Amino acid sequence: MISKRIKEDFPILKRKINGKRFIYLDNAATSQKPIQVINAITTFYKFYNANIHRGIYKVAEEATEMYENSKEKVKEFINARGKEEIIYVRNTTEAINFVAISFGEKIKKDEKIVVSKMEHHSNLVPWQLLAKRKKAKLEFVELKDFEIDISDFEKKIKGAKLVAITHVSNVLGTINDVKTLAKIAHENGAYFLVDGAQSVPHMKVDVKKLDCDFLAFSGHKMLAPFGIGVLYGKREILEEMQPILGGGDMIKECNFLGCSWNDLPYKFEAGTQNVEGAIGLSAAIDYLRKIGMEKIQKHEEELTKYALKLLEEETGVETYGPKKRSGIVAFNIKGIHAHDVASFFDKEGIAIRAGHHCAMPLVRKVLKRDAVARMSFYLYNFKEDIDAAVEAIRKLKKEFGE
Ligand code: PMP
Repeated sequence: MISKRIKEDFPILKRKINGKRFIYLDNAATSQKPIQVINAITTFYKFYNANIHRGIYKVAEEATEMYENSKEKVKEFINARGKEEIIYVRNTTEAINFVAISFGEKIKKDEKIVVSKMEHHSNLVPWQLLAKRKKAKLEFVELKDFEIDISDFEKKIKGAKLVAITHVSNVLGTINDVKTLAKIAHENGAYFLVDGAQSVPHMKVDVKKLDCDFLAFSGHKMLAPFGIGVLYGKREILEEMQPILGGGDMIKECNFLGCSWNDLPYKFEAGTQNVEGAIGLSAAIDYLRKIGMEKIQKHEEELTKYALKLLEEETGVETYGPKKRSGIVAFNIKGIHAHDVASFFDKEGIAIRAGHHCAMPLVRKVLKRDAVARMSFYLYNFKEDIDAAVEAIRKLKKEFGE
């Protein structure tokens, strides 16, 4: 188990909300930041602030080195072959949109793109836009017991050009076997994109083992600041893709009539970059690796098991998702709207989210619910946080006269 001492690293967890200890259970939305990440960013601004890849003075060279080291760390963290496969973007959403726009040029009329019925809007809307632009078809893999229905996947994959599937569902917590899905996709001649927004922060993700063509994830969900995200792509695929943004730093030679592109990954990083974000992400990876991704995953698994067991014993509480899942527990209390649940939790100092969780088709059409409440855990949560959440549910039920 992870030691409770790590809570000391997260200043925000010392806050009191409505006179109560602040309990943060909205980690699927964003994570809190440890002091080590906050300090790395302030140190950068205090002593190293300069634009990168430009100046030849000492501070600029140091800033460039810090940015490049951050890429090296991301490369190692997901086991990419080289830094050229790591492109910095703002977030998962931007990474997927970039693939849909740039790689999307390969998609022709009537060709097929496949997603699942559990996707976040970030891994749905870019494909809807692409399908519309190219007059291509968008198909949806069915779910069975909150998991991807493999036999339906095997049917839908026939003739598909591209598959985009989430590694972990932000509502159900389902951990999809993306390694097997990628293998089936490749056997059928399709490319495979993994939405890693909810997996990379919580488990060891190895792009070589998964053999995915693209992986997208966000820094802010893994202890890093907002505004930095990653698109991993296989080198040979990225080489063939065209930039979607033109400007400084992404060209090799430029004249009035045209340009040649810079090497990977700079060809896709036009303009001044989020250096602060890169440095924060680097510090966040250091922090996660020091604890160990296996340990983090196990810690969250135990918390999830504990939460599900307690909720099962609560009358009128319904949960959605498979037994074995990531640290995400979506639930409803009979007769009480999810938004009322979240408001009541707030009075108790507990932050959770309620709504459609940017997965409206899943919540409305598959779960057939208007909204669901969601608790989501991270490495600084402990059983006492879940006890407090369950106590809040009991109090709320009493208030509603159960
Ligand atoms: N995919 C999934 C599965 C997510 O949970 C989220 C964030 N909730 C995203 C994509 C989008 O992430 P971001 O808003 O950081 O782009």
